Amino acid sequence: MHENSSKSSTICAIATAQGGAIGIIRVSGTDAVSIVNSIFSKDISQAKGYTMHYGDIKAQKENGEEGKIIDSVIVLVCRTPHSYTGEDTVEISCHGSSYILQSILAELMTAGCVLAKPGEYTQRAFMNGKMDLSQAEAVADLIASQNEAQHRVAMQQMRGGISTKLHELRDKLLHLTSLMELELDFSDHEDLEFADRSELRTLAENINNEIKRLAASFSNGNAIKNGIPVAIIGAPNVGKSTLLNALLHDDRAIVSDIQGTTRDLIEDTITINGYLFRFIDTAGIRNTNDTIEQMGIERSLKAAEKAQIIILLADEKSPFPDIQEKEHQHIIYVTNKSDKLKSDHQNPHSALEISALHGIGLDKLEERLLAAAASTNDTGTDEVIITNQRHKQALDTAAADIQRAMQSMHMGLSGDLISEDLRLCINHLSDILGGTITTNEVLGNIFKNFCVGK
Ligand code: GDP
Repeated sequence: MHENSSKSSTICAIATAQGGAIGIIRVSGTDAVSIVNSIFSKDISQAKGYTMHYGDIKAQKENGEEGKIIDSVIVLVCRTPHSYTGEDTVEISCHGSSYILQSILAELMTAGCVLAKPGEYTQRAFMNGKMDLSQAEAVADLIASQNEAQHRVAMQQMRGGISTKLHELRDKLLHLTSLMELELDFSDHEDLEFADRSELRTLAENINNEIKRLAASFSNGNAIKNGIPVAIIGAPNVGKSTLLNALLHDDRAIVSDIQGTTRDLIEDTITINGYLFRFIDTAGIRNTNDTIEQMGIERSLKAAEKAQIIILLADEKSPFPDIQEKEHQHIIYVTNKSDKLKSDHQNPHSALEISALHGIGLDKLEERLLAAAASTNDTGTDEVIITNQRHKQALDTAAADIQRAMQSMHMGLSGDLISEDLRLCINHLSDILGGTITTNEVLGNIFKNFCVGK
């Protein structure tokens, strides 16, 4: 059980979205069974875990008169520790009317429940040792998942993919630390020290490589979770907004004949063949004195830096802007307004010729996008990948720790110093799983993004 765990109130919340045929209210905490029992027509006070009970939920007695029936429901009882939160839990399945759901919620609160905060059930599950922090975070990702790849990575994480990997790394680090301590114990025997250190270095290198691989998987993981960033870059009026609209199939960006109308970045996502793309429409690149437009251009160049795929756009008048492909980046050269191109038109970069306005060649562009996505992103990998910025930061810090330790080994520095860096490395990896001391601030940040009822 987590150190922060303490006896807490019994919470209740509606767990289902509005408008369904069935609505579910979750109650969790020490008094869950007795509270529900006080408003239920059957006696469930001694009910065993994993049992279901059919009966009526009744309003409290008023002026000595029997309260009215709110609904006929099915009640599921789970007993500690065999529940999602690890506490006694009761789930009430009723008819999906929001009036019924709100009335039952009100009765539960009158009977002693408090309303759950966002993510509080999952937070309790974490506190009670039912899952680690990375698994708890995956619950939110799973609920938000919208395609196969997002579902797969969230599921992998929820089922302990990252946890297992990190436990393996921790075991290796502990092994390394114990070897280090052995070296300290035998430090009188100078000849022993050097024999051991080459083995230690190999072990450390191995750990460093694994941490680095995991951290590097964030680029892929982030693309799966938030979309592969695609920047459309070109001079004003080449048709960037028109192209974005055509790709997104709606009128998201402003299209106009006046140069420099797209001053803000507009972002939107679309799934093509299972790949999620996040398009960034950017202000036209040209020399300008307009400061607001200038800011837009700077931002678009920044966006280009972060983009994995850049669609460089030219038309019959404006050539391609001069942008160099960075490592892990793909530039797709596209000439727009094919309807206006002269028959003797030169085709620099063997660009794809399209008409964003008339929808010509867009299928070919989608094919190019998919090919670029497939070469930089692996949506089908079974390897553990991370999708969370918090995990990425912790891994980067842990990598710096182990690299310091390696450096110290290389320089023949004292074992104490090396052990200290190894310990820090273990702690930073443990942070991902929630460690033993996770601050309330960290927990607050994680669970505030959950929905109420989860
Ligand atoms: P941006 O400044 O690069 O975002 O350009 P816009 O998307 O605002 O387009 C500028 C103008 O070019 C608009 O009048 C569009 O209708 C026009 N345009 C865009 N695509 C095409 C095309 O394929 N053919 C023709 N003839 N005009 C286009």
